[in-house]
Amino acid sequence: MTTRILPVTPQSLAYAKELIDAGEVVAFHTETVYGLGADATNDEAVRKIFALKGRPADNPLIAHVHEGYDISSLVETPAWTKRLRDRFLPGPLTMVYPSKGKVSAYVSSGLPTLSIRVPSSPAAQAFLRAVDRPIAAPSANRSKHVSPVTAQHVYDDFAGDIPLILDGGASQGGIESTVLDCTGAVPLILRAGLVTREMIVAEVGACENYVLQEGEKPKSPGMAYKHYAPACATKFFGAQELSAAVQCYQNEEAAGGAPCLLCEHAVCGQYPALRALDLGRTPEEMAANLYAHLRTGERQATLLIGVEPRARGGVMDGVLNRMLRAFGQDAKERRHDG
Ligand code: AMP
Ligand code: MG
Repeated sequence: MTTRILPVTPQSLAYAKELIDAGEVVAFHTETVYGLGADATNDEAVRKIFALKGRPADNPLIAHVHEGYDISSLVETPAWTKRLRDRFLPGPLTMVYPSKGKVSAYVSSGLPTLSIRVPSSPAAQAFLRAVDRPIAAPSANRSKHVSPVTAQHVYDDFAGDIPLILDGGASQGGIESTVLDCTGAVPLILRAGLVTREMIVAEVGACENYVLQEGEKPKSPGMAYKHYAPACATKFFGAQELSAAVQCYQNEEAAGGAPCLLCEHAVCGQYPALRALDLGRTPEEMAANLYAHLRTGERQATLLIGVEPRARGGVMDGVLNRMLRAFGQDAKERRHDG
């Protein structure tokens, strides 16, 4: 199959609708990362997403709808959740509600809940309006690989396997949406993102971070999997272990390798002679740059050396979570707060 990358035009949207009607999978731009979408009401189409990604069947997908879509046809919406929708949607917040069972059971991997997202990207809105039905979509990367923030990244993972990528340019948010469980009395963050715990507390008075307890079945199955892993060898160092990171860089170079640091702007400035991918200065810049840099790093380096940024709280919850998971177990062992 030929994979076409097309800008969003009336013609490409009509083609996208034709494909979705036929049970095919279409990749599309959002403001967070690119999504791999299919008709959420079509069992076979939804199963194609899992097969293409190599995604475990117990890791549910998010249903994406346009701004004008009446979500009360799909889910129960507790009264207190309205404030969050009014304040943050459309935008990078996914809300998990009790499901009314109107979409394929494969979307929720058999859970009694359904997660809904209303992306703000004009390209996503145009696509969702054109098809005018819920689109089940995870991030458009092979399972466990780094999430895609350009059409080219999607192409790199799925060329020849999907018919269409709707190109809306680079995703500016850079990390996946905040996933918020709204099935209890207090909202619970299952995955940190650009809509932060602090922002949610300011709106509804309370919000907890979900912490997976030893031996418990995770509320969000995706959180149990290793994720966002670059294809090259990696090492990770805590913010206090900068000299060890530099030593590691020098060892790799002495052994004939091509190491590269992935670190915040201030650290790059301290070591101008070392090859480095600059995450930026602010939490938002770091979120926007992280995945693109992980994909560049895996192409260019034999060893990608992550250095933990120093900032904490807010958007950093999401950035640090993604960095730790990209760098694997190594990261959890080496991380020092401070
Ligand atoms: P992805 O967009 O690839 O990051 O995958 C969607 C994320 O949303 C995964 O981490 C899922 O575990 C999470 N998710 C989707 N639906 C639900 C749900 N009904 N309950 C809890 N988590 C969900
Ligand atoms: Mg994903």
